[in-house]
Amino acid sequence: MSDIGKRWNLTPVINAAGTMTVIGASRVLPEVRDDVTSVLGRFVHIDELQARASEVIARLCGSEAGIVTSSAASGMALACAAAIVGEDLAAIDALPATGPRERRIAVQMGHMVNYGAPVAQAASCAGAEVVPLGTAALCELYHLEAALAQGLAAALYVVSHHTVREGELPLALFVEACRRHNVPVIVDMASEYDLAGAIGLGADVAIYSGHKFLSGATSGIVAGTRKIVRAIYLQNAGMGRLMKVGKEGIAGAISALEAWERRDHDGQRRNEEAIVDAWLRALSGIAGLQVARHADWTGNPITRVELRLEPTAAGLFAWELAERLKGENPSIVVRDDLAEHQLLYLDPCNLTADEAEQVGRRLRAVCELAKDKGDGLRKTWLEVKRGRGAHRPAWLGEGT
Ligand SMILES: *Cc1c(COP(=O)(O)O)cnc(C)c1O
Repeated sequence: MSDIGKRWNLTPVINAAGTMTVIGASRVLPEVRDDVTSVLGRFVHIDELQARASEVIARLCGSEAGIVTSSAASGMALACAAAIVGEDLAAIDALPATGPRERRIAVQMGHMVNYGAPVAQAASCAGAEVVPLGTAALCELYHLEAALAQGLAAALYVVSHHTVREGELPLALFVEACRRHNVPVIVDMASEYDLAGAIGLGADVAIYSGHKFLSGATSGIVAGTRKIVRAIYLQNAGMGRLMKVGKEGIAGAISALEAWERRDHDGQRRNEEAIVDAWLRALSGIAGLQVARHADWTGNPITRVELRLEPTAAGLFAWELAERLKGENPSIVVRDDLAEHQLLYLDPCNLTADEAEQVGRRLRAVCELAKDKGDGLRKTWLEVKRGRGAHRPAWLGEGT
């Protein structure tokens, strides 16, 4: 029984949502799996493996150096820790206690979002005092200047569809102001395709997930100046150990970056576009469901399909549709973070043509069945929202 799906009784999942941690991020490329398998059966000097990682990160991101961490989130925490204590070994041991040293780290209020966990926590767990800049949908240069005038250990910038991008300070201005004060800028762009943009603008650190669009093993890819990368490396004797990356993570990140260099990006995009076109055809003419192409929120080269429900005509709320698709076998997971607006999205990046066909077919069947049975409008948004946060996995039982 080599198939773990059968052996461990796992529900098969079709990922039409994009790279989501809760369903295993991405389909790791075959060549990356080969390299990870190869490293798992041998010993390496981790130092040497990180040196190779640094070379490929520097090449792709245009940075002086780089390092692989266990995830982008841990990369953020370690970059913040590095900005606060540098190469002071005793101070590395003492974190998150920082003593009298500067520990303020500024973040625009609109960037203090939740990517699965709160952005600010990545800084505060490293001993930082998080200084919010501006308000939810407005941050001006003077907000940043005022924080800089009071002293900062670093400034954190987030590029993501999660952020409130209305009224935000553009990265170029953010970096320019911080540079004038010699304050390092740490950019979280875990999910962005642009590997060289932030470093090109003068950011000190740019952080990516190895397991998102790069289709690598679970890892964080941290590009940065030699100085800050050295300080992050030293964190392995402190906080970094709590979030250790092993040889498989480092090798999986190196391999994924090498694959990214060789990848036929245009060919991949054509495949994804073909899936989108097929979905638009397969899903036309369903009562109460409008389908349209949707360009990526932050300009990544991805087109998704937007599903807009008109609940009375469809006989189905968007959150009900997502829930029912998830309950299918195979379980079909769609993007539902805007479900409260009756919007769902289908992402073509992690699908085979056969899986994409199943998504279209099952989606139509679920809509038609709900319409026939008239049972798709039962759970209101208030009820959904009331139950949120109370989710406990069934396998751990029902609470106290
Ligand atoms: C996914 C994501 C993270 C977390 O990345 P991990 O590598 O899974 O830790 C952090 N920030 C943003 C903006 C993300 O999209």
